[in-house]
Amino acid sequence: MGTENRGRPQFPARPAATPFAAAPPPQNMMPFSSSGPLVGSEASGFRPTPPAAPLPTVPSSTPVVGSQASGFRSPPLARFNDPSVPPPPTSNIPPPVGPYQRFSASPFPSTAQAPLSRAPPFGQPVAQPPAPPASLRLQSQIPPVPMGSPPQSINFASPNVNVPYSSSDSTFPAPRPNFQSSFPGYARMQSNADLQAPPIQSPFPPHQGGYAPAPLASSSPFLTHQGGYVPPMPVAAPLGLQSRDQMQHLGSGPPIGSIQGLIEDFSSLSVGSVPGSVDPGIDLKAMPRPLDGDVEPKLFAEMYPMNCDPRYLRLTTSAIPNSASLVSRWHLPLGAVVCPLAEAPDGEEVPVVNFVSTGIIRCRRCRTYVNPFVTFTDAGRKWRCNICSLLNDVPGEYFAHLDATGRRIDLDQRPELTKGSVEFVAPTEYMMRPPMPPVYFFLIDVSISAVRSGMIEVVAQTIRSCLDELPGYPRTQIGFATFDSAIHFYNMKSSLAQPQMMVVSDLDDIFLPLPDDLLVNLSESRSVVETFLDSLPSMFQDNVNVESAFGPALKAAFMVMSQLGGKLLIFQNTLPSLGVGRLKLRGDDLRVYGTDKEQMLRLPEDPFYKQMAAELTKYQIAVNVYAFSDKYTDIASLGTLAKYTGGQVNYYPSFQSAIHGKKLRHELTRDLTRETAWEAVMRIRCGKGVRFTSYHGNFMLRSTDLMALPAVDCDKAYAMQISLEETLLTTQTVYFQVALLYTASCGERRIRVHTAAAPVVADLGEMYRQADTGAVVSLFSRLAIEKTLSHKLEDARNSVQLRIVKALKEYRNLYAVQHRLGGRMIYPESLKFLPLYGLAICRSTPLRGGYADASLDERCSAGYTMMTLPVKKLLKLLYPSLIRLDEHLLKASAQVDDFKNLDKRLPLAAENLDSRGLYLYDDGFRFLIWFGKALSPDVAMNLLGADFAAELSKATLYEHDNEMSRKLIRILEKFRERDPSYYPLCHLVRQGEQPREGFLLLSNLVEDQIGGTNGYVDWILQIHRQVQQNA
Ligand SMILES: [Zn+2]
Repeated sequence: MGTENRGRPQFPARPAATPFAAAPPPQNMMPFSSSGPLVGSEASGFRPTPPAAPLPTVPSSTPVVGSQASGFRSPPLARFNDPSVPPPPTSNIPPPVGPYQRFSASPFPSTAQAPLSRAPPFGQPVAQPPAPPASLRLQSQIPPVPMGSPPQSINFASPNVNVPYSSSDSTFPAPRPNFQSSFPGYARMQSNADLQAPPIQSPFPPHQGGYAPAPLASSSPFLTHQGGYVPPMPVAAPLGLQSRDQMQHLGSGPPIGSIQGLIEDFSSLSVGSVPGSVDPGIDLKAMPRPLDGDVEPKLFAEMYPMNCDPRYLRLTTSAIPNSASLVSRWHLPLGAVVCPLAEAPDGEEVPVVNFVSTGIIRCRRCRTYVNPFVTFTDAGRKWRCNICSLLNDVPGEYFAHLDATGRRIDLDQRPELTKGSVEFVAPTEYMMRPPMPPVYFFLIDVSISAVRSGMIEVVAQTIRSCLDELPGYPRTQIGFATFDSAIHFYNMKSSLAQPQMMVVSDLDDIFLPLPDDLLVNLSESRSVVETFLDSLPSMFQDNVNVESAFGPALKAAFMVMSQLGGKLLIFQNTLPSLGVGRLKLRGDDLRVYGTDKEQMLRLPEDPFYKQMAAELTKYQIAVNVYAFSDKYTDIASLGTLAKYTGGQVNYYPSFQSAIHGKKLRHELTRDLTRETAWEAVMRIRCGKGVRFTSYHGNFMLRSTDLMALPAVDCDKAYAMQISLEETLLTTQTVYFQVALLYTASCGERRIRVHTAAAPVVADLGEMYRQADTGAVVSLFSRLAIEKTLSHKLEDARNSVQLRIVKALKEYRNLYAVQHRLGGRMIYPESLKFLPLYGLAICRSTPLRGGYADASLDERCSAGYTMMTLPVKKLLKLLYPSLIRLDEHLLKASAQVDDFKNLDKRLPLAAENLDSRGLYLYDDGFRFLIWFGKALSPDVAMNLLGADFAAELSKATLYEHDNEMSRKLIRILEKFRERDPSYYPLCHLVRQGEQPREGFLLLSNLVEDQIGGTNGYVDWILQIHRQVQQNA
């Protein structure tokens, strides 16, 4: 679709086909009542119902934690006598006072939150607009303006009767100059980056390229025979390793050590000098590479078949150290990566359990949910909690006899006792208010740059096309606001024939005109919504406004949504220039890099953003930021909104609908239609003596261990670190239990519970043996990205390297002497890819290079994104796949769908690119097709048509009428289907096309040395040297 006005002053009638058209729901129906009253509605809430419980203007410093947590999380085991722990139920009936009701009196005060005292109107609910009389008066004073009117046509300033946000805030500058002309710096920086891409002249001599030759090209003399990736070395037990003797698996856990114990599965790589030479030698081909992508730890799953699937929970090592000294010798992060809503393949969905009559069975002391690891005793009348060992009564309705082996006879009908993942339907005591409906509010930039990019039209069309698929019908609510130098609200009341726009231009004193009709029930107002979306692009097509009142618009959106919560989707194109939260250009000062001020650029400039994020989270609002600017747009600040509300950042630099429209359409569609968990909190419990100490990802911590997640979906993962509370663990097994309490889109309150067990070990070697590279890398990269917010990039990279060195040194000390492996680099087989992933982390967008290697916005947006990625997705981004395509395309058509050969990934080094070939580089976010110089012209012509000789930066890939072209398109589609979370756009580049080739591909070939950065070989040599120092 083009961007031209379709000339539609007439708003189309509601299509008869829409499912919602048939029976217009009754007017004035409150959204909640339509879903059937839910018990507990009087309970002031998990979040207070705003009118009933106005927020304290000064947040109490009392941590909410204790009271609020008493139900959902276990209090630290040391505090079992905590009076906040509810008394044991005397029967199967749940305690009358549910866990969430307890903290109604202190609604999430937190010292970290926004100083509410500054902004009384701000925290107030929609239902209680700052000055009801004012808005009432407005309503009567201002004639509703039909859609299609020029946006500025009914500007009005809000009357000054409202309590001002703060009178001191009202010093707004005169309109700022157009950034486009005044601050071209950022665009310039981009081109610098292009220029700095490594110069490459005829990089690929026939057959063996060597762009940026590694220290040892294949012609190196040192390669001769000496290298070797030494296969796992069987070491006979009689060698009597000390560690072997020590390795006692305490307890009755599965005997993991017993068989593997006979074999030390470390690996090594020869990096010793060749005699007579000072140069180190290393066999490039023998170096380990993760060409199969992420591999989930099988052994662990086999050890504990009742554990939840690793797609939900992975530990950085499944052997939990029994002592603090062991932890300190591990050196790698010790912790977990959790993806609570990971998509399950058909047939493996998480079973839903409804304890209608008994209430949810939980340990009365630590609040652990009943799970496969609890044990039943006393002829079935008692059960022992696997986390705190307390003996609990089995409620009468839950009683079952035990068989001769002590198993309940009803085990087959009890998923909660046999599956590591279950979902409990939560009874009313888990609700502090009726479950909220899914709410989608869209805040759309309509300034001139937004109009010109074509973003508005793509967004409007995409939302419209998703209306039938938004989760939660018929309760779903929807609303819109647009902004440039003013804020435009839209009355979507179902009784209207078309929406009405109201413009508020007083940015100092935001108020809501018609507060009740800005967020409407989608099924009731469907035709008004459709009319609005159809007309939105043309409404602003002639807008020449260059300003952005983003901050005030954000506050307005907050006011609209604060009563219900929901998802706020922000489409932003112009650096916020007016009102609160205005931002300035920064990051174009080269001199700041490398100094102590560098990291400031990656932090939000204005505390407004973090304060808003805290407010939004408190009111169950998750923010997804879509940014499109061709200039600096301060993702560091904007992304804060997503970071603390459980949202995400999607950045489309220099968005043009003709090029990026498809990507935006797909990714927005996924955002709008994927299953979403609303108003959620998550807690992960673990057994006595072990404690979670830090959390990493996009969320806000509401207490020491309760993660507030206004919205969660299958594409979000969270990482956390563990530490030992005691110097010595005496248990044999540690259990972990993730509990996500949320409202499903259907309106049911649910608790998704994942449980896993892991053995406690006394042996460091076992910890390494049971390490999970994917989980380690996930935690590692999150820590490194966080470090860039308080340190220089270089420091963050060094810390990655240092931890790998320390870990390998420790590991070496375990084995090197006994095996006389002096000259070899040794590492655990389980972590053989870790050094390469470490290098990849250092070269990832958030951490790489310096000023010129990635724009500040790109760095920040990649950082926000990587903080949320599930393990598989993250590993693919770090070590993308490189696949040769031409041979496959030339095969007979019968093999078109044979994708097996396409899974053969190549090492990410330029020497693997044959100039006669066609290659696909795929990092999960974008595709790059590389055309070798000597590629058969037939192939190029088939794939590119008339463009085959053109400069490929201007060519686009589309299907031509021949088998080869169809095959290629199908292959790309297939890859996109495999991972639908993002839509990779396809870029084309020809060998030698500079600087694009360097920028798009060569600088991303992780194993090659680029500019001043290490390639894989140098990196390994450097690590090896450091490991050997003082070894
Ligand atoms: Zn317990």
